[in-house]
Amino acid sequence: MADHGDAGADADVDVAVVGAGPAGAVAACTAARRGLSVALIDRETFPRDKTCGDGIGPGAVRVLRDLDLDSVLGGRRRIESVTVFGPAGERSENPVPVLPRKSTDVFVVPRLEFDEHLFRAALASGAEDLSGTRYLGMADVGEHGRIVELRDAAGARRRVRARLVIGADGAYSAVRKDLVGEDRTSRKFVGVAMRAYAESQGFDDGPSMLFEFSPDLLPSYGWIFPVGEGTVNIGVGLPIAQLRDRGVDLRMLLGQFADRLRERGVALGELRQERGHQLPGVMGMPQLAFGRAALIGDAASMINPVSGEGIAYAMTSARRLVDALPVDLADGVALSTALAGFERGFRSDHRLHFLSCRFTMALLRHAVPAGVVLRAIQNDPRVLSGVFDMLFGDGRLQAGTALRIARHAR
Ligand SMILES: Cc1cc2nc3c(=O)[nH]c(=O)nc-3n(C[C@H](O)[C@H](O)[C@H](O)COP(=O)(O)OP(=O)(O)OC[C@H]3O[C@@H](n4cnc5c(N)ncnc54)[C@H](O)[C@@H]3O)c2cc1C
Repeated sequence: MADHGDAGADADVDVAVVGAGPAGAVAACTAARRGLSVALIDRETFPRDKTCGDGIGPGAVRVLRDLDLDSVLGGRRRIESVTVFGPAGERSENPVPVLPRKSTDVFVVPRLEFDEHLFRAALASGAEDLSGTRYLGMADVGEHGRIVELRDAAGARRRVRARLVIGADGAYSAVRKDLVGEDRTSRKFVGVAMRAYAESQGFDDGPSMLFEFSPDLLPSYGWIFPVGEGTVNIGVGLPIAQLRDRGVDLRMLLGQFADRLRERGVALGELRQERGHQLPGVMGMPQLAFGRAALIGDAASMINPVSGEGIAYAMTSARRLVDALPVDLADGVALSTALAGFERGFRSDHRLHFLSCRFTMALLRHAVPAGVVLRAIQNDPRVLSGVFDMLFGDGRLQAGTALRIARHAR
């Protein structure tokens, strides 16, 4: 560990990363590879499950390949086709689109396995393993950094002083609360989703992903993603506000979705491991850069409001943050400038992408425009490509795609 010559802490590091999901593990891995001393903190021990659809989209695949961490995809087959059911039950099946100069590779990897892989990679790069240790809070000690208060499973307390604290502790982030406070505006943009696993044959051939945009699930959807060996990840989601207004609960919606699929002839076994979790949408993104601290991933509300994808933003934001760091983290001015630059760059590079997602989300809130968008996706491969890039990549809604969608209004 780095010696910053200050009493009051049990250990000193350059970077304390709170949360070892995709955001935290990639941040810890890349920071350790740069030669920084890193403490990787997680309240859980690995392997651990994370409630998710397990879909690893093109943005996440790109980061894995760039960092030479893609062995986790080995032996898994790339998704080849997408089946969509529209609001009236109309079905379409299309190959995963091919985009010029962009990969559209999608895989499905259970998070139990995926996150364990990234966590081990971070440790192998030199990060210190502080899993099984809960973040309790932190104190700002000015130019000396921040002291992070931790408690392990046996109840023992520990203090780690870091020149930079990275909050990557997910949707219910305690680091974010300490930095931002209670943020009621962001709460408006939180969704919630429930996933389960089940046996089902047929999805491994192809392999294929299924989405259902039924009226009870709009502006969200139901999904089935093939995990392999005849097992699927099945789930539904909805913005919290809609759940409340409609007086429904996710378990009920998930059961109804599964029943509809069985009626359509999908051989679906009993649902198991049903678990819900929040999805903080990008419209509620808080400030990202603070004095000697930053937020990334779900802790920073980086979830696509339409697709519910967040792994790619989590990994990309982690990488961009570490890439932006100055050589000497002790230099407070250089660090502040770097953190501000990270925030400015992330926001400006994603501004039009996030705006496009917001616009699409608004269309999907109402059955009539939602029907038009979905008809266009089902009947026009170029619309499917544009929408795919927006939901699972970093694409924007292009004028040409909007015109093509408008042609399907009737
Ligand atoms: C049902 C559902 C389906 C989804 N499907 C997809 C999908 O198919 N594809 C996709 O890209 N995205 C999907 N998402 C979103 C995706 O799961 C998240 O965006 C992603 O996990 C964000 O990664 P992260 O590292 O920011 O946070 P997380 O993966 O949540 O990791 C946060 C870590 O912080 C730790 N932690 C929390 N509090 C503390 C504390 N106080 N002290 C120490 N450690 C702490 C947790 O144990 C956890 O390991 C889905 C989400 C849900 C809920």
